[in-house]
Amino acid sequence: FDALRDTDPEIADVVLDELARLRGGLQLIASENLTSPAVLAVLGSALTNKYAEGYPGRRYYGGCGEVDRAEALGIERAKALFGAEHANLQPHSGAGANLAAYAALLMPGDTVLAMELPHGGHLTHGSKVNFSGKWFDTVGYPVRKDDELIDYDEVRDLALQHRPKMIICGATAYPRLIDFARFRAIADEVSAYLMVDAAHFIGLVAGGAIPSPVPHADVVCATTHKVLRGPRGGMILCREGLAQRIDKAVFPFTQGGPLMHAVAAKAVALKEAAQPAYADYARQVIANARALAAGLEGEGMRPVSGGTDTHLALIDLRALRITGREAEERCDAAGITLNKNAIPYDPEKPMTASGIRVGTPSVTTQGMKEPEMRRIAALIAAAVRGEPVAQQVRELTAAFPAYPSP
Ligand code: PLP
Repeated sequence: FDALRDTDPEIADVVLDELARLRGGLQLIASENLTSPAVLAVLGSALTNKYAEGYPGRRYYGGCGEVDRAEALGIERAKALFGAEHANLQPHSGAGANLAAYAALLMPGDTVLAMELPHGGHLTHGSKVNFSGKWFDTVGYPVRKDDELIDYDEVRDLALQHRPKMIICGATAYPRLIDFARFRAIADEVSAYLMVDAAHFIGLVAGGAIPSPVPHADVVCATTHKVLRGPRGGMILCREGLAQRIDKAVFPFTQGGPLMHAVAAKAVALKEAAQPAYADYARQVIANARALAAGLEGEGMRPVSGGTDTHLALIDLRALRITGREAEERCDAAGITLNKNAIPYDPEKPMTASGIRVGTPSVTTQGMKEPEMRRIAALIAAAVRGEPVAQQVRELTAAFPAYPSP
């Protein structure tokens, strides 16, 4: 860090200010986490210099012996942790992993059935502003209006009607467990591939806290930086029979040289995620999300679908007559970072939204448990009402520091 301060004090300040922001506030963005010092060390290492197009043992560059070891270790760890026949750790991001899965399994113009965006699906599941919606014919399935859960009968009806080549399950803002076996059965009925986008919850699977999609899916795409707590990036798991197609879809079809510092950092995160302490962590993430959702409900904010089985809760704020955007702004001012989020059948536009999404990966990494979640719920409620709570937020986070002070 001293080298950075000497070379570029402005960027050094950004790094220090971000650290101060993390240490001084509550991070409740469901897709974020706080990586370990070991992961950060690899990310800032000389591995960033290496060109290594190709895969371990089959590279287009010399000097790859060292990075080969890192990638091979990472692949073995991913396969062992998830019981997968094949793993690819090279996707630069979750969206990149999804792009590669589309590229491996489909041709432009093919039909895809995926969760509708306003109901929790991701941009890469068919948004018109994304490659998925531009190059593929996507059909969306909603959640039911009354209980806000996936209606598997409706998914099946849509599949029979539209005969998709690929069905996607897994979402950005769906707080409940997904019945992967049910999706598999629907996909089999129409001879479709089943792609599970486990970007959000793969870490809960790694910790054994929720059922795994791996036995049911043709391809599982994931990010490595959410609950899994690794570096920013993507990962793909699949059966051996699809391994070559997936590998070729990542490189050379959608990517060039892999980010070897990130691939090695993924290997570190996968080792961490295989430890018993990580299983405790994953269970606590869910217990905390449940406590937070219940606490917010007690403050008059309705958890969509009545609660959560995962690391996140989607909260309907309409009873408080406040929009998601206003709530996000008021929480931000208090040092509570969360995001506005559309709720199913939201009457508001996405940039306004009637809800917020809260997640517990970061605060659980900091060691917080259910009593702190109840306190956070009260702090969010007070912040949303416009009360000054920044000092209380600082006191709470001071007891659970995000990272050691520099
Ligand atoms: N898929 C889902 C379900 C996501 O929630 C996200 C990101 O939030 C992604 C894919 C994309 O991941 P990335 O931001 O790394 O591209």
